Amino acid sequence: AAKQQGRNRYSFFTASMQEAAMVKMQTAIDLRLALAAEQFKLYYQPIVELQTGRIQKAEALLRWAHPTNSLLFSPNNFISIAEDIGIIGEIGDWVFKEATRQAAEWRNRYVPHLQVSVNKSPLQFFKGRDQHSLWLEHLRALGLPGNAVVIEITEGLLLEASPEVSEILSAFRRAGLQVSLDDFGTGYSALAYLKKFDIDFLKIDRSFVSHLAPQSNDMVLCEAIIAMAHKLGMKVIAEGIETAQQRNLLLEAGCDYGQGFLFAKPLPAEEFEQLLSRQTNTIP
Ligand code: C2E
Ligand code: MG
Ligand code: MG
Ligand code: MG
Repeated sequence: AAKQQGRNRYSFFTASMQEAAMVKMQTAIDLRLALAAEQFKLYYQPIVELQTGRIQKAEALLRWAHPTNSLLFSPNNFISIAEDIGIIGEIGDWVFKEATRQAAEWRNRYVPHLQVSVNKSPLQFFKGRDQHSLWLEHLRALGLPGNAVVIEITEGLLLEASPEVSEILSAFRRAGLQVSLDDFGTGYSALAYLKKFDIDFLKIDRSFVSHLAPQSNDMVLCEAIIAMAHKLGMKVIAEGIETAQQRNLLLEAGCDYGQGFLFAKPLPAEEFEQLLSRQTNTIP
């Protein structure tokens, strides 16, 4: 019986592995078609100034309206596949164009200084070396100033400290774009890179925010991150704020901006626009 059970377990294991490999292959095939089929959408999540509660920025987050597999809606379930098959560059170009088109419209109609942030995964820095010049040309064509855009990168990228990465980041900053360090505190936190690169915003990772309580270790860490960032001339954005208590503690600790379900979930463009228009109409 044990032997039989063992064999069953073995075949179950390989069957599920095979299935996973097939799902991944099918996803790769579908991904190649998704851009042309216009299945991607951007959702926008407000980033509010904690002092005033006003929306000053929005993070553009990619969504895939896959025709049959709703699990593929979330970027966590397809970005790495897009990287593996070498199409993250094209997807990133689409994200940049769509987010900046939208930013230009919203800045005209609602919030003149609105900034839109886009995520750029490390591989996007190495695939296609002149992607950044295309992006800058696109901004000029739109008539959008560089500081309408924030590029979100992660710590892992800076640790590589490659000349290409420095070059691209400098080109962005010369054009006025700002740079945000996403998920701060979850990576290697080899803090030396903070003095080598010009970074405008630190985003405290959600994992420090979700258990925030007075006098907790997470509170101490948030306070230390905020103090360090300010001394280095950076502003701080806390991710994943879900409760008023978390917001209040971060505000007291001097955190500049917040993002999270307390304010709003990532929203389709039309719904985000409603938030902006309501805010504009309530200017005192
Ligand atoms: P991220 O850049 O750290 O984005 C924040 C994630 O946290 C988003 O997940 C957002 O929906 C979620 N979030 C925001 N507030 C809360 C909250 O209060 N509670 C909880 N539980 N979650 C919250 P999302 O949209 O699923 O994106 C996941 C990741 O996928 C992003 O993490 C980013 O790394 C990546 N990603 C998204 N869009 C793009 C893109 O256009 N290009 C690239 N390369 N990566 C992207
Ligand atoms: Mg991000
Ligand atoms: Mg993040
Ligand atoms: Mg994250």
